[in-house]
Amino acid sequence: MANAFENAMKQLAEVAKRAPGVVGTEIVEYLHHPVRIVDVEFPVVMDNGSRTFFHGYRVQWNNLRGPFKGGLRFHPQVDMDEVKALAFWMTIKCAVVNIPYGGGKGGVAVDPKRLSAGELERLTRAFTRSIADVIGSDKDIPAPDVNTNAQIMDWMVDEYGKITGKIDYALITGKSLGNGGSEGRGTATGQGAWYVFEAYQKKLGLGETCKVAVQGFGNAGQVIASLFYQHGHQVVAVSDSHGGIYQENGLDIPAVITHKTSTKTLAGFPGAKEMSQEDLLTCACDVIAPSALENQFTKEIAPRVQAKVILELANGPTTPEADEIFAQKNVTVIPDVLANSGGVATSFFEWQQNKSNEHWTEQQVFEKLKGLMDAASQDVISIADQHHLTQRQAAFVLALKRIGEKI
Ligand code: NAD
Repeated sequence: MANAFENAMKQLAEVAKRAPGVVGTEIVEYLHHPVRIVDVEFPVVMDNGSRTFFHGYRVQWNNLRGPFKGGLRFHPQVDMDEVKALAFWMTIKCAVVNIPYGGGKGGVAVDPKRLSAGELERLTRAFTRSIADVIGSDKDIPAPDVNTNAQIMDWMVDEYGKITGKIDYALITGKSLGNGGSEGRGTATGQGAWYVFEAYQKKLGLGETCKVAVQGFGNAGQVIASLFYQHGHQVVAVSDSHGGIYQENGLDIPAVITHKTSTKTLAGFPGAKEMSQEDLLTCACDVIAPSALENQFTKEIAPRVQAKVILELANGPTTPEADEIFAQKNVTVIPDVLANSGGVATSFFEWQQNKSNEHWTEQQVFEKLKGLMDAASQDVISIADQHHLTQRQAAFVLALKRIGEKI
């Protein structure tokens, strides 16, 4: 299995090689090194009274542009290299979308689906105590990621408040609305990806009715599938960790969401054919939106991909080898560090609201979000055109220039 951190460093090296006069060597050197790595093991009392130790991480990659910022993932595959890659990508992403943050990421190696609600809360609180020294609303601001949600963020704010004696809502973003959360944060990653897609639609000569496949049907995947559906595109395939479903004339996405919510599975959706996860990646469509985990498009899969556009909502779904194949095949990859940056951009709005004790409407939030996503998309497109780079290389160049100004 490809290593996400090695992939991230290969992407950085590739940009340094492809744009030597544009990107300074000093910033490339800087971005090879994390500022701090926190590696913890902590005990949690389980429902049966036994005690289990869990392994958690917080990686603070770079804070030249502002406090570290990045999500927390609860997943059995979480390990140091994955968290380092994600923290590095957060650094690039916050610079691409031009918000005053650096990059960080964290996680716990655990399958939360095997925990009771009480065990999940105790694990979250214990992990918060383990990393409390290094986080803070002007230091490092966590947020949700895979298998973490507003409830988990609320527990973290509460636990941290018990340690410091003061509730500071700006400590964490992605909280529930009643607990300092922002309107629109729950759907922001998909919404932001939609604005990016619209910015690219004309440039890429995409019609009004594209055939779309969405891999991953969680927070990010459900929202982007719904937005494609609402705007008249045909979402022909979606998948989750158990497999996919396909309907040539387009799935009724609201009905698929209802089915998945009530049955916990995509299987058995009326009128749809079941398909494997691999078949989804290579199915006949114009656009694929990977919205699950890293390393989905590998050098084995890439040659068989039929889509012309890959809209990366997941972090790191395309390996560097697959990127090369896509460039040769003229497949446009709209990179994660741009396409999914709507989540962290709206986290920044939540943090601003918490700091100033304001509450903005969803319309205000999405207007600001559209402004940031449009500007970032145009910046990336113009660098790619000017220097004959892929969209990912251009996004990295933009970020490296912006971060480099702070050395
Ligand atoms: P989530 O836990 O809500 O959903 C993940 C989905 O992926 C689930 O439906 C799961 O079943 C599915 N999945 C897992 N393995 C799969 C596989 N092999 N094939 C198909 N589906 C599979 O997580 P999320 O918050 O939607 O995050 C998804 C991706 O988006 C991650 O890479 C995350 O880092 C990225 N992302 C999320 C946000 C956010 O705000 N949620 C922001 C930026 C980036």
